[in-house]
Amino acid sequence: MQAFGTTIFAEMSALAISTNSVNLGQGFPDTDGPPELLAAAARAIYDGHNQYPPGPGIPALRHAIATHQQRHYALDYSPDTEVLVTAGATEAIAASILALAGPGDDVVLFEPYYDSYAACIALAGARRRTVTLERDGDGWGFDPDALRQAVTRRTKAILVNTPHNPTGKVFSPRELAVIAQVAGEHDLTVISDEVYEHLTFDGRLHQPIATLPGMRERTVTISSAGKTFSVTGWKIGWVCAPPPLLAAVRTVKQFLTYVNGAPFQPAVAQALSAGAAYYGGIATQLQRQRDLLCDGLASLGYDVVSPQATYFATVDVHADAVEFCRELPRRAGVVAIPSSVFYDSSAGDSFVRFAFCKRPNVIDEALRRLKEAHP
Ligand SMILES: *Cc1c(COP(=O)(O)O)cnc(C)c1O
Repeated sequence: MQAFGTTIFAEMSALAISTNSVNLGQGFPDTDGPPELLAAAARAIYDGHNQYPPGPGIPALRHAIATHQQRHYALDYSPDTEVLVTAGATEAIAASILALAGPGDDVVLFEPYYDSYAACIALAGARRRTVTLERDGDGWGFDPDALRQAVTRRTKAILVNTPHNPTGKVFSPRELAVIAQVAGEHDLTVISDEVYEHLTFDGRLHQPIATLPGMRERTVTISSAGKTFSVTGWKIGWVCAPPPLLAAVRTVKQFLTYVNGAPFQPAVAQALSAGAAYYGGIATQLQRQRDLLCDGLASLGYDVVSPQATYFATVDVHADAVEFCRELPRRAGVVAIPSSVFYDSSAGDSFVRFAFCKRPNVIDEALRRLKEAHP
């Protein structure tokens, strides 16, 4: 694991503090989640939900997750044999990869990728094979042949992340169909990280790959309360998968954390049962923040790719992204993250990720500073 030393986030957060910069590097909101959600967790503590919860998660939360999948996507999962509560999506990803891949196996994933994917594949002793998401006009796309070529006899799983961090891409039905076809042809499991499922913009809807014909039986779907309800520190995530896959993931999970977040589980169960307006409100506010940041950056002359979802916008700085991000705090008092660290290839060398899950006055201040510093 030596190659995974300190993350870029640690370096950039330290720079943000030492230069007193506005930090648009960190991918978490600077406002609290819905007050009734916070109150429910506080109540749960006083009501005595403070000891180890059941290994697979409390029944109320497993039921709420199953109902959520049914209500939003018409996907049926048994709360008892097909749903597992985890310590955030992070543990769900780790347990899934460790359960499904080992030494000598390959895992296919798209670059840029969420940093824990590469680390977990390394922990499993497996090898990663990346398919590049290329900038394509206003968005991002991939070459289906590149995906086909990435699959080998050793491939065990394809890791998909939609909506996607850091590009903000929502995979299209056509793209999901290509992935499903490749998975079917090679009898692969798909691990689908959908933590931004409710943070989509402009009326776009997220489609789980498990809804495609034949895919429910070969997909491990992962999500989390952190992004949906702006409580990233709570670390309540989950897995939905058919019984044999779920059992494999659960076997690993029980030796990672065993259980977590006893008082948060009943609170999240309650929030998941809330109506569509509850989900929509957070996305609508986030969309305004996206527009504030993206329009602002564009008006300063930056080459911005506006995202369809998530917390992040990408800027092509047409220069080395790591150097750009190391200089930006001193030059402008703003911190961003070089997306190039999320690539194996050099395809992302000039891309920088800015987070807009921040209060509008924070985004305004970052834009004001960038304007002043603009060469
Ligand atoms: C934030 C994030 C996670 C981690 O979710 P937790 O529930 O906080 O563990 C996983 N995947 C992606 C793509 C993320 O952006």
